[in-house]
Amino acid sequence: MKIAVPQIDTLDHILPEEPLLMMGAGPVPIPQAVANANGIVINHLGETMGKIIHQVKSMAGYIFQTDSPWIVGVAGPGSAAMEMAVANLVWKNTKVLSICNGFFSNRLAQMAQRAGAEVEQVSIVEGQSANPVEIRKLLEELTPEVITIVQGETSNTTYNHQLAEIGKLAKEFNCYLIVDAVCTLSTMPLKMDEWHIDAVITGGQKGLSSIPGVSLVAFSDRAWQRISNRVIQIPQWTLDAMLASNFWHQDSYHYTAPVSGLLALHEAMRLICNETLEKRFKRHLTCSTALQSAIESLGLDLYIDGKNRLNSVIGIRLPEQLESKIVCEHISKNYRVEIAGSFGPPIVRIGQMGEQCREHNLFRTIHAFGSTFKDLGIKVDVPAGMAQLENMLQRQKFC
Ligand SMILES: *Cc1c(COP(=O)(O)O)cnc(C)c1O
Repeated sequence: MKIAVPQIDTLDHILPEEPLLMMGAGPVPIPQAVANANGIVINHLGETMGKIIHQVKSMAGYIFQTDSPWIVGVAGPGSAAMEMAVANLVWKNTKVLSICNGFFSNRLAQMAQRAGAEVEQVSIVEGQSANPVEIRKLLEELTPEVITIVQGETSNTTYNHQLAEIGKLAKEFNCYLIVDAVCTLSTMPLKMDEWHIDAVITGGQKGLSSIPGVSLVAFSDRAWQRISNRVIQIPQWTLDAMLASNFWHQDSYHYTAPVSGLLALHEAMRLICNETLEKRFKRHLTCSTALQSAIESLGLDLYIDGKNRLNSVIGIRLPEQLESKIVCEHISKNYRVEIAGSFGPPIVRIGQMGEQCREHNLFRTIHAFGSTFKDLGIKVDVPAGMAQLENMLQRQKFC
């Protein structure tokens, strides 16, 4: 029997005429320089690649705020970087404390379990953030060797704002601290060395505004020593940090690196360095707080209150009669703006990462978002939302 040639539509037929404005929880829009770089294929080894990797590592040092040379990449999603951090630092019977705020921090706990660790999973009440006083008690009681935590829990938009204090505790109790910063890195402060963090994880398609599929992990010197000295071999060959180091530190072969994605990442990081972290954090804060305030002026409620609210991804509580799927489909079809539903809580989510934090994108998003609720029969004040957005952005310009 012969398998016939399938009937295939061209991408022109499948993709929307006008690209959607990607305002969900990632992937986020990419700058033109990143898109251009992503169209290039070069040799995965040799002098040119060597220079690019050297620069990616230098830029990562700045963006992660670390002096540690142990930056490694992985061809894979943010989750591959999570697994790389966990599976290299954890093995059979390692005692792990997983501080969980939701979906992604639970994933870290699952990865540790699969690596054979003895995992104590502590769930933080929805709407709260990890509290150092309680973590101290847990450390005294459980004496873990490794702690996993997320800086921003994208799934329910919670922010663990006391990460610096938690880092101090990890040091005091001689624990290795693994931090998932996939949605937060380069959108808000994270000081790997100063906060005593041993592994920081990021993906491409969120804070960094690069493409999905190429991710980075930074290990501290101390973490690298633990990995170098481990006796039980890591079962995952592709995620083995020592093997990855062949490529990342010796200009030699591990597997064929995702060259185009690395060039894209290089460009995304170069743009971050050009902007500087200070200005980038300020841009994110200004845009996100203006958007939050505008959403409240529409007459809608934000899901998380006060200091525990994440700025990188905003969660908006849905009126009882509305499902997130209806809202996301309506805004996408009618306004060509893409936002995200959720994995459980009754919310929709709007991202504020990288290129999403541009004024023109905010105005389009608030207009589309407010109009969507109006179309769906919810009473919202669209002009008030638009005016509040403008007021908030203007106010920032004069202070
Ligand atoms: C998106 C995200 C991940 C997972 O990234 P993938 O690229 O989807 O694997 C992990 N952690 C956080 C905090 C995220 O926002």
